[in-house]
Amino acid sequence: MNRLKTLLCAASASAILAVSGAASAKDLVIHAGTLIDGVSRTERQHVSIRVHDDRIVAIEDGFTTPAGAEVIDLSDKTVMPGLIDAHVHLTLQLGKGPQQLMAVTNSSFDNAMSGVANARTTLLAGFTSVRDVGGDTPVVVALRKAQKNGTIEGPRMWVSGHILGPTGGHGDASHGFDPELTKPSWSEGIVDGPEEALKKVRQMYHDGVDLIKIVPSGGVASVGDDPNAQLMTDAEIKTIVDTAHTLHMKVAAHAHGKQAIDHASDIGVDSIEHGTFADAESYAIMKKRGTYLVPTLIAGETVYNFARNHPELLSPSVAEKALAVAPRMASNAYNAWKSGVKIAFGTDAGVYQHGLNAQEFALMVKAGIPAMDTIIAATSSAADLIGDSADIGSIQPGRYADFVATDADPVKDITQLQHVSFVMQGGRVYKKDGQIVP
Ligand SMILES: [Zn+2]
Repeated sequence: MNRLKTLLCAASASAILAVSGAASAKDLVIHAGTLIDGVSRTERQHVSIRVHDDRIVAIEDGFTTPAGAEVIDLSDKTVMPGLIDAHVHLTLQLGKGPQQLMAVTNSSFDNAMSGVANARTTLLAGFTSVRDVGGDTPVVVALRKAQKNGTIEGPRMWVSGHILGPTGGHGDASHGFDPELTKPSWSEGIVDGPEEALKKVRQMYHDGVDLIKIVPSGGVASVGDDPNAQLMTDAEIKTIVDTAHTLHMKVAAHAHGKQAIDHASDIGVDSIEHGTFADAESYAIMKKRGTYLVPTLIAGETVYNFARNHPELLSPSVAEKALAVAPRMASNAYNAWKSGVKIAFGTDAGVYQHGLNAQEFALMVKAGIPAMDTIIAATSSAADLIGDSADIGSIQPGRYADFVATDADPVKDITQLQHVSFVMQGGRVYKKDGQIVP
């Protein structure tokens, strides 16, 4: 994202530190009993990870203790990179009340407040980085800024802001309401035709988003639109992809139906979110184009359970769609993985309760994907999709000192990731021995 902005920020920050002389360098060494580095599929035993300030500086065999370094003893734990969820909605929460009532009683300010709380919950669950793919643009941009400057605790964020889509599509929040009823934010992401799409992408870039999220097919948790139908034209998708890529922004495409998946992948979106009704032909296109699949199995399971047990919480037509779509998601994830499609871990947090993100691992393993592959999906693969492998997603020199640790090996028991006992982000410990560090 905005590499230039990052460089400028880094440059001015180091200038300030140099002038004030207030920077106190900190050296740490982590003794990792077992190490999963996020890149290799082989675990290593008895490794020392040396950290200077917020970055990893060296990985060494055996337990070494450099002079002056603080030792963090995780010699009986499995240490891995901080986890990455490539599909969250930090400012949203489904299921807290009837969906349509929530839509007209929650303000952007309410969403901002819950976003602050959800960000902290997500970090403490071991997710040190997220890609937020849908929320009010000014709110999520402010949330990212607040995390970056240390005002709030939360994962590092890459945010899309408003999702872009057509009138009557998955991004049209006014669908199903009295047409006289409206909120400014409801029409913020509506684009009809390539001209509107072009202008909107440039506007979003100007407003500070890191990536663009589009909805080429209908969705499940929205009123009236058909998940199987391609609702954006190829020309609209292409304009958005070309404009976003020119501005060094990636494009995430929500798509359930095969046509939308195939067309969006072929046009060059960077990821397909959900991807429910993909088939062998879709996988071939995705492989050829290098498109990631972000499976979001926990979202499918959650809306399915809502539809079965609490349909009154969902808008009319949503329950029916959930029952039709959700059962296909797990087998699709497995088939995509088996076909060699790149998988990035993503959960749709906000559809289910924030902080339970790691349940996705168990669902992926249950679908047939090997545990180590699900960990790679949530570390180096998610970082690659985000476009910042130089900073996150692996335990290698130069990366941020973002780590989690589990008491037992998650490759043997994937549910270990649902209760990580240690969380570090940028060299600061947030959780140790399962306890929150104030
Ligand atoms: Zn989503």
